[in-house]
Amino acid sequence: MANKTVIDLLEDFSFRHAKIDQENERRMKNDADIMELEEQKRALLAEKLKRAFLAEDTTGLDADIMELERRQEEIARKKGLVVPYACAACRDTGLVGRKYCVCFLREVYQTIYGAADVNTLAERFDRADFSVFDGEKELAMGRTQRALAELAYGICKKYVDAFPNTPRLNLLLRGKAGLGKSYLLRCIATAAREKGVDVCLIRAGELFSAFFKHRMGEEMPLSFLQDAQLLLIDDLGTEPMTQNVTTEYLFDLLNRRLEAGRHTAVATNVDDLQARYGERISSRLESRECAVLLLDGMDLRLRR
Ligand SMILES: [Zn+2]
Repeated sequence: MANKTVIDLLEDFSFRHAKIDQENERRMKNDADIMELEEQKRALLAEKLKRAFLAEDTTGLDADIMELERRQEEIARKKGLVVPYACAACRDTGLVGRKYCVCFLREVYQTIYGAADVNTLAERFDRADFSVFDGEKELAMGRTQRALAELAYGICKKYVDAFPNTPRLNLLLRGKAGLGKSYLLRCIATAAREKGVDVCLIRAGELFSAFFKHRMGEEMPLSFLQDAQLLLIDDLGTEPMTQNVTTEYLFDLLNRRLEAGRHTAVATNVDDLQARYGERISSRLESRECAVLLLDGMDLRLRR
């Protein structure tokens, strides 16, 4: 993958926008009905210029010009001449006002950080199938594996449904590998995307590799990770530990997000977070702001 910067991405977007505009203009110019209205519009514009020069009132002309433009657009729409932008919100510029559009942020997450493409995830809450979990043997808290999964599912679903006014700011999904934690995170990502939330779903490996690049002085902005409306970190604990990077950067990210009141959900198979990351990080991951969900039982991948 080419090493793109945020500036490169913004350029890509404005190029896409210009290309669609050009194509639309070309199509308009090839349509006789639209061009006939264009002639009338030009005549009115010339008249407007003249009146403005004589300091006369032009409001009536303005209304007529707008009406002609409306009719041009109507014809273009009816004849199917208009090429739509991929994103109606930003018209493929990547910007809405002075803010980055959600579609642009998604491309930053994927291209700059290697985050998941949340537009193509297959996991959805309404497709969850609990029959794959054992419903017989009692495990933690006197519940079966299926009951624990259903409980976690319910809390995760509620979290997205209520977003951004979630009962707790953060979520921590714990349990061994193969118990459905990643599945739940992906369901959250899909549901959040459908709500229009700015969501970044990233595996710990990619996250720490971004940290490492930043540490090595490479061009790697971390602000997008700090500012994402909803950050989902999968597989925390599978990343290699790097001295002076792992704990410092992770603490900084979690702390900034907590202080800014931004939502973060983490899935981890690490039992003892304090032993691996130290007290500062574990206290943030397990703080009162965080709903802790435990998944337990048999690895689904082994059962199948
Ligand atoms: Zn957009």
